[in-house]
Amino acid sequence: MIESIFQEMHRDPSCSARTGLLSLPHGNVQTPAFMPVGTNATVKAVEPRDLESMGFSLILANTYHLFLRPGPEVISKAGGLHGFSGWQKNFLTDSGGFQIFSLPQFRKILDEGVRFKSHIDGSSHILTPENVVDIQTAFNSDIQMALDICAPWGESENKAYRATMLTYDWAKRAKTQWLSQRESGYQGYLFGIVQGNFFRELRKMSVEQIASLDLPGIAIGGLSIGEPKEAYIEYLNFTAALLPSDKPRYLMGIGTPDYIIEAVRNGIDIFDCVYPTRTARNGLLFTSKGQITIKKAMYKKDFEPIDPDCSCRVCKTYTRAYLHHLFRNNEILYSMLASQHNLHFMADFASKIRQAIQADSFESFARGFLDTYNAGMEAQE
Ligand SMILES: [Zn+2]
Repeated sequence: MIESIFQEMHRDPSCSARTGLLSLPHGNVQTPAFMPVGTNATVKAVEPRDLESMGFSLILANTYHLFLRPGPEVISKAGGLHGFSGWQKNFLTDSGGFQIFSLPQFRKILDEGVRFKSHIDGSSHILTPENVVDIQTAFNSDIQMALDICAPWGESENKAYRATMLTYDWAKRAKTQWLSQRESGYQGYLFGIVQGNFFRELRKMSVEQIASLDLPGIAIGGLSIGEPKEAYIEYLNFTAALLPSDKPRYLMGIGTPDYIIEAVRNGIDIFDCVYPTRTARNGLLFTSKGQITIKKAMYKKDFEPIDPDCSCRVCKTYTRAYLHHLFRNNEILYSMLASQHNLHFMADFASKIRQAIQADSFESFARGFLDTYNAGMEAQE
């Protein structure tokens, strides 16, 4: 019997949106929660203490990258990801599969696992369901993900079927390995991943398979991988409705406000994306009235904060004109300030979502938020 790590607190009567509490080895996480992405055990340009002061308690790191460099041995010797990076709250690590499948020229899928060549030095490696659990255990991840196969948008039904079946087989093997690591003292939790591509029968089968393993949490994979928004919504609605309600639900790789609202509406509890930090570095800043492109000449003499409604330290201290100047000169400080503001915006957005659910007003919040956000986007164009 695996202990439950999730408690649903409140459900909005108008949809499946819910608040909850996720209990993890490095502290509790209030859900719905957005997870910043720290690919190399660092959320780019942001220090752990700043993430903590923004209210984050769970961040994501990438197994593929950390496996290749610096390698699990270094991280294990440093005291796991927490000792290595200084982030003392929770880490979720992905399985590495998604990165490998995005390098199709370098990999081969076998029943045993996936063989691939490093993008760094061309060296050959194999990731199996078992060694992926061992690697994430060496990282001391609070949540680790089972190795899965994410079939691309547009995949044939036959190939999608094979990927879904292999994902199930690998999840079973991952569970066995994880249970043996738990017996040796490892405290973290394993989540399984639902696949099935864009075929309803396969999605349904995958949910049944992964749910039958009774793992601590379930993720939906293979969405937001390049499909049109209508397909994202359709398959999210369909898949999320089949998931057991007593487990935390994780939707992988979404980060724009409209996709997040759709996910929360369907009862998703946690989600991650590089979007807020990557767009920040590329000059896009979030505001409650839409995004602004800071390099535009119109901001050269704009002495307002990025978002007058934002309570972050960046908005209290600096102006759009200064950010514009830093960006135009490729100053390092620009990336630090922009990332901090965009992440604060996401933390605040998630907090407002939780408040709206608690107040039974999620739908009116979502409508109001998106109306203002989208109207501002249009005004920018
Ligand atoms: Zn701000």
